[in-house]
Order: sequence, then C-alpha cells, then structure tokens
Amino acid sequence: MMMIRKAFKFRLQVTPETDAKLNNYVGGCPFVWNKALALNLDRLNSKQPILWYQELNFWATLWKQSDEYGFLKDVPSQALQQKLKDMDKAFRDCFDKNQPLKRCPVFKKKGLSDSIRFPQGFKVEDSESRIFLPKVGWVRYRNSRRVVGEPKNITVSRKGKHWYASIQVEYDTMAMPHKSTSIVGVDMGIKQFATLSDGTVYQPLNSFKGKAEKLAKLQRKLKNKKKFSSNWKKAKAKITKCHEQIADARKDYLHKVSTEICENQAVICIEDLKVKNMSKSAKGNSEKHGKNVAQKSGLNKSILDQGWGMFFQMLDYKQGWNGGMVIKVPAHHTSQTCPCCQHVAKANRLTQAEFVCVECGYSNNADLVGAMNVLSRGHLQLACLASGAVMPPATGTSDKRRRKVTSEQSGITASSGR
Ligand SMILES: [Zn+2]
Repeated sequence: MMMIRKAFKFRLQVTPETDAKLNNYVGGCPFVWNKALALNLDRLNSKQPILWYQELNFWATLWKQSDEYGFLKDVPSQALQQKLKDMDKAFRDCFDKNQPLKRCPVFKKKGLSDSIRFPQGFKVEDSESRIFLPKVGWVRYRNSRRVVGEPKNITVSRKGKHWYASIQVEYDTMAMPHKSTSIVGVDMGIKQFATLSDGTVYQPLNSFKGKAEKLAKLQRKLKNKKKFSSNWKKAKAKITKCHEQIADARKDYLHKVSTEICENQAVICIEDLKVKNMSKSAKGNSEKHGKNVAQKSGLNKSILDQGWGMFFQMLDYKQGWNGGMVIKVPAHHTSQTCPCCQHVAKANRLTQAEFVCVECGYSNNADLVGAMNVLSRGHLQLACLASGAVMPPATGTSDKRRRKVTSEQSGITASSGR
C-alpha cells in the first residue's frame, strides 16, 4: 500500500449569486475566528482558563442565533467549526513547550486569508466538471485534468477576482495498475511539439509567439508612463494579465497533451534532456559565439515557450497517479541513428524533416525515427530493470558500445521471461 495525497486546483466558474455566497462565507470564517480569539484573549488577561473547541462551538451557536450576527446562519457550520478547531490547535501549539517557535494566534485581517475549507458534505463530479459545496450548491470549474483518487476535502479560495477550488485527494498507487499495457517513445521537437513512436503528432502551441508583439507594445507603453502613476499601474496590470494568459494557455495545452498520453500509455519513454541547462548555456555564451547563439537562444526560447520541463513533470506525476511509468533514456544521437540497421551518421539527416540512412537506405519522417529510437532505448532500460543488470551509463558512451549492450540485454530478457 502506498497512499498518496495530492491536490487538484481548478478555477471556479461562479455565477454572481455563488460569488455573493462565497464572499459571505469567507467573511464569516475570519469573523468567527476573530470573535473567538478576542474571547480567549480576554480570558487570558483576566487569568481565566482558555476555552477549547467544544466551548467555542457552543458560543458560535449562540452567535448564529443572535440577530446581530445572523449572517453566520448562511455560512456552513462545518466551515466555522473548522476555524474553531484551527484555533484550538493554534492555542495548544502556542502552549506546547516542545514548539518554542509557535506564537499566540493573531487576528485575521479581511482580504488576507480569503479561503474556506469543506472537510465533508461536498461532491466532486469530474466528468461534469463541477463540484457540490454545502450551502452553495453546484459550481462549475475549468477542467484541465482528471481528478483521481478519493476526495478528502475541498478548499475554496479567492485570488484577485477569481475563485479557486483545491481538491485534496488520497489514493493508493499500488491498487491502480495502468489500464493499458502499451509502451511508447516520445520525440520532442520545435516544429512538432511531440511525436510518438506510434505516429501520433502534437503540434506546438507557441502560445508566446502570438502574444509577443502585444507584450512588446505594452512594455513600450509602460516605459513612457510615470512610474507608480495610475496610468503606469494600469499598463502594468495589462502586462501582468498578458503574461498570465500566455502561461494559462500553455499550461492548459500541456495538461491536455500529457493527460492524453498518460491515459493511453502504460510506459512512456522520453529523452533525458536537461531543459534548464540548455537555455542557460545559450545565455551564458552569448558574447563568445555571435551568430550561433542568436539561433540557439531562439531555439531555447521556443523550448521554454513550449514548457518542456513542465511537460516532463506532468508526465511524471500523471503516470504516478495512473499506475504507469516514465523512462528517461540517453539522448545521444537519437536523431541520427538508423532504426533499421543502427548505423549512426550525421549524413542520415540531410534535411530537418526526412531521415534517410546512408548505409541501408531506410527512410522515414525524422521526428518519427527519433521517437522509434527513444522507444527502443526504453525497451533496453526495461530489460535492464527486469534482469537486474547494471544500466549502461546515460552519457559519455558511444552508440557503438550501447548497441552491443542492446543485443546482450535483449538476450537476457528473452531467457528470463520464459
Ligand atoms: Zn540503416
């Protein structure tokens, strides 16, 4: 058994009515917290014992019934109780000699901690992209990924104008083997975002390119404004929004692609690329190598724009949820190796798009060949895993040597498999 807790965060699509209710709730929770805290601080000052959760809850019930604080009736009781439980714990921590760093609980300022937690009474309908919240009703959300596991609680919070729901789930990874048994190799590229060894192609989103001009224009405008003037702030806000839109679009796209691949493939083989290093090296050398770098940094900007690093992370954790796995294979010469005769030559790639083997004449789409090579290296690593053999080093080996290992290793799996 391996229980994992994970949170899924979604932006809620709220109606004005829901917005008003949620505002009421997030206002109610700090109100009750502050009220209960004032009560306890008074008691501390007058040397009376502190009130713990049970007594505080009794008081909260009275406040709810009063005319003055009647608005508390609309706030889900469990949310208020949660705040009182939090306060109970905060005071216990504060008196605990083993936790010398804990301070006395403080008053909550409105607008600082605009969140509300639902430990029960909620429902999650992933297929309908909606959640049910007690005393709020059904609320739709922007569905960017599948919720897996058993929902344990939901925290609704406000950031700026928008509401977000964070659904915390718990699940057993071992109990969920991947529904498929297929294995696939993935070739990452600039012209095509990802090419799978089964022929599936994902085009790049290039979310940045379309917006880059708009962003540059906005930034020029900002320069002409007086710093911290109201017009400057407006322009600044527009830039922030533009950045957010780009990031959101990219993230949505990466989620879509990674979810699709992870749902269909039990084993995903990818090249072991150091995405961060690739972009760093181009920047650092810009003075030394004039021309090449401009090209290189263009390429790296594209890589960052497409979010390869984020994409690899998504594949990784989604395979974790689905009970699948990701295998990282050495990236050397994946584009120059012939999948048919294993001949390695730069000349195999005379054009960007086409692979033609100078040794045996095999030809195919270059990205597809890359994906096929990644897949065969993935098979090799799986074989190593299965046989317990030492993995060939990921870097610094020539392809000739690796080829030799390939045939040896495949021999081992064949015999141990039968
Ligand atoms: Zn060949």
